[in-house]
Amino acid sequence: MEISARDGVGRALVWFRRDLRSADHPALAHALRDARQVWCAFVLDKAILEGLPPDDRRVAFIRASLVDLDQQLAALSAGRARLIVRHANAADEIPRLAGELGVDAVYCHHDDDPAALARDARVRERLAAQGRAMRTFKDHVIFERDEVLTGARKAYGVFTPYKNAWLKALHARPGVLDDCGSDVDGTPLARAPASVWRGAAAVPELEEVGFATGPATPRDDPGLRPGSSGGQALLDDFLDRIDNYDATRDFPARPGPSHLGIHLRFGTLSLRRLVALASQRIEGGSRGAQTWLSELIWRDFYHQVLFHHPHVVGHAYRADCEDIRWEHGAQADAHFTAWCEGRTGYPLVDAGMRQLGATGYMHNRLRMVTASFLTKHLGVSWQRGEAWFARHLNDFELASNNGGWQWAASTGCDAQPWFRIFNPVTQSERFDPQGVFIRRWVPELGDLAGDAIHAPWKAGPVELAAAGVTLGRDYPHPIVDHAVAREKTLARFGSRGSGSPVVSEAG
Ligand SMILES: Cc1cc2nc3c(=O)[nH]c(=O)nc-3n(C[C@H](O)[C@H](O)[C@H](O)COP(=O)(O)OP(=O)(O)OC[C@H]3O[C@@H](n4cnc5c(N)ncnc54)[C@H](O)[C@@H]3O)c2cc1C
Repeated sequence: MEISARDGVGRALVWFRRDLRSADHPALAHALRDARQVWCAFVLDKAILEGLPPDDRRVAFIRASLVDLDQQLAALSAGRARLIVRHANAADEIPRLAGELGVDAVYCHHDDDPAALARDARVRERLAAQGRAMRTFKDHVIFERDEVLTGARKAYGVFTPYKNAWLKALHARPGVLDDCGSDVDGTPLARAPASVWRGAAAVPELEEVGFATGPATPRDDPGLRPGSSGGQALLDDFLDRIDNYDATRDFPARPGPSHLGIHLRFGTLSLRRLVALASQRIEGGSRGAQTWLSELIWRDFYHQVLFHHPHVVGHAYRADCEDIRWEHGAQADAHFTAWCEGRTGYPLVDAGMRQLGATGYMHNRLRMVTASFLTKHLGVSWQRGEAWFARHLNDFELASNNGGWQWAASTGCDAQPWFRIFNPVTQSERFDPQGVFIRRWVPELGDLAGDAIHAPWKAGPVELAAAGVTLGRDYPHPIVDHAVAREKTLARFGSRGSGSPVVSEAG
């Protein structure tokens, strides 16, 4: 990446947010090029943290990643510089810290989530009132905002043409993948004055900021591997498998996906480097890498949807879906609770929900199946499911989570057609044919043989007894009947007045 120095920046503060690495970090690289003295800071933002439960795994991930980043900065500066970490309201703290350090400019990356845009606007205003600049750079996506638009200069609402335009843009501007390097000249990185430096340890313990280590994950789960080093270990593992990604990615019992979502969310790895790696593999003929790149393009797609249509936060993308009458009341609440706890009586749905609860990860196929089940079998609004995922997913990302939920609920752009309703039993038979994944997460069904694992209510009494399962005692009866639920959903969506459907059932 070509970085030209700017005049008039003697001192700079780099504000880390969702970019917890030093390698290929545009804001850091620009600050080091522009300024004579550079400090680095992260704010454990009370405005965000106060809404989280004390054992939130993501906070432990962030803390450990900050320790990793602190070490990276120390290594870049011969041990001189440390990360300044504050526990405060970021919108107040960054201007205050900028004042304490007397910097000319604050450097950071774009964050287009609506709340972050509002926060950054406040910070920019406060800095400007102090006579300081705020310099921001793209980092979190490959193409942002208005960089990939239709011929009519509008945002894309359909993925495939967006993807084609995205690939064309990459071809035309290969420089967007240029790396700022890991070995930038760290000479300007400075030791913070004692008045700013408030303690021996740069990064506070979790307990000091009101959190505790998250719940332990099961012994056979790899758990979260924080920091750039953790992300690199996952990436090395995935690169051995990437060529088979297209063939394995849909089968939750197989090691198909990369598990890099949380590293992309918190920027512990550089997205540009991942796209460059995938592109190299594609040049070598890898179909797996091609499919994987498509997934990364979905990520950019949903970010531009959120940027251009911020109303999707809380509202359907499609105006005609705003008046869908979702279920409310005691039964809907009971259904929602059963879904959250993995007690719906549909083994694949329950396995996915239990994986989420126990590890904070859920396989993509199961995100689709469970989201479809909540909205189209239980008739519960996508907003309730979206909020549950937001609370529990380690890799929670507003743009992708909202996009995924609105896709499954058929309220979004380029969504699953509303009359296509996943059959959870068929999905189970196709994507977990031997029931390996189900047996892992729903152990009470472990001894069921053959197809009964996909639909225990279809098993005969002898078969159930041989497996030690009494339905209603060891495992629930299905909380809804698929055929009945399907009819209700068709009626629910049909009464929106969008015409009569060509009814089809998705496998
Ligand atoms: C209802 C629902 C909710 C979802 N919520 C989130 C979320 O909060 N955060 C999130 O990152 N993804 C979300 N996804 C998309 C996808 O399920 C996850 O990105 C993926 O499962 C993460 O696992 P991985 O890192 O092993 O992915 P891989 O399969 O290895 O993919 C690599 C990366 O590509 C991106 N990606 C993959 N699939 C998608 C997709 N469909 N949409 C957008 N980006 C994608 C992610 O950054 C992912 O880490 C959701 C999907 C659905 C259907």
